[in-house]
Amino acid sequence: MNQLSDRINNLATSATLAMAAKARELRAEGKDIIGLSLGEPDFNTPDFIKDAAIEAINQNYNSYTPVDGYVELKEAIINKFKRDNNLSYTLPQIVVSTGAKQSLANIASVMLNAGDEVILPCPYWVSYSDIVKLSDGIPVEVQTSIDTDFKMTADQLEAAITPKTKMIWYSSPCNPSGSVYSKEELRALADVLQKHPNIYVVSDEIYEHINFKGGHFSMAEFEDMYDRTITVNGVSKAFAMTGWRIGYIGAPDWIARACNKMQGQITSGANCIAQRAVITALEAEPSSIKYMVDEFKERRKLILNLLSEIEGFKTNEPEGAFYVFPNVSSYFGKTIKGKTINNASDFSLFLLEEALVATVTGEAFGNPDCIRISYAASQEEIKEAIKRIKTALS
Ligand code: PMP
Ligand code: GLU
Repeated sequence: MNQLSDRINNLATSATLAMAAKARELRAEGKDIIGLSLGEPDFNTPDFIKDAAIEAINQNYNSYTPVDGYVELKEAIINKFKRDNNLSYTLPQIVVSTGAKQSLANIASVMLNAGDEVILPCPYWVSYSDIVKLSDGIPVEVQTSIDTDFKMTADQLEAAITPKTKMIWYSSPCNPSGSVYSKEELRALADVLQKHPNIYVVSDEIYEHINFKGGHFSMAEFEDMYDRTITVNGVSKAFAMTGWRIGYIGAPDWIARACNKMQGQITSGANCIAQRAVITALEAEPSSIKYMVDEFKERRKLILNLLSEIEGFKTNEPEGAFYVFPNVSSYFGKTIKGKTINNASDFSLFLLEEALVATVTGEAFGNPDCIRISYAASQEEIKEAIKRIKTALS
């Protein structure tokens, strides 16, 4: 008999991590899989950050850190928010966590009571809905489409709000669509929220620097939204530090204090060496990572060109992050190589088995017509992957 809790039994496995594990497994069996499933920069962490970590080890940084992060790191985060986002936070408003994923889990557990609704514009990042459910919240999906560049409009937001709405969570640049909300678009959403003063916003800005158009805007920059916006960020993407596991929030101090309390009972805080290294990362000018952003931009151009040659892939032009999110629904109902494709999951599985290319089904992001392809891979891998996809489908 299954003795596990309902909580874990009802939790979905992270689709991104599951696909990455599946690709690893197939590779171990000798299959030549190209992994375009995981959203993880393929660059090495820059040397100046690695050097800071080595120095921290040699300086004997080995004890528990303050639960919410070293003061020097929180100061670096405050300066970063000021420099890059025009946001003013004080020390008690910052909490450093074991990745932005934990920041989000902290927020859910300190903000949600059973039955509270969280509006998630679709497509949303894969873990939002299950993190919300883990805290007994109810994800409320708002469907968007390629025609609005996968962004939620003010009218859609208004229509989704109920007396139970507690929060809205979105990422900009968006994982998986790459869409970036402009200042005007965010203002329109904020105007709706003016009528609903008890709704809080999670603005996940982890792809902030991977923005090809420029013009990143934070919801908390609006004076009337500052007191009810939690700004989430981290170093995984911009600094190629996924495995170092550092994320952070800037939030109203009562929310930050609650996250600190939560973290004090479940992790005691983030890794000390990684925290020291992140001080150096955040003190560096964003120009120090421009070479990676430039390369992602080149790859975006490449993959969009290559995909445009495949019939049935309808794709928006992502403005940030490192994903394309093509609508592949024109393949649904077709049988290719003896395999019937009924939905995006079938399609993604077909690509894995027949093209040996790992992608992620859009269903995991709340959009069942699309698949997500990560272009955080070399140009050679991208060319080979799209060639294989084209051949498998033709
Ligand atoms: N938010 C978004 C939108 C993401 O894509 C990711 C991917 N890792 C995270 C949060 C979590 O990042 P991490 O835990 O690595 O800081
Ligand atoms: N955020 C990345 C992705 O969406 C990494 C995987 C994860 O953290 O789930 O693929």
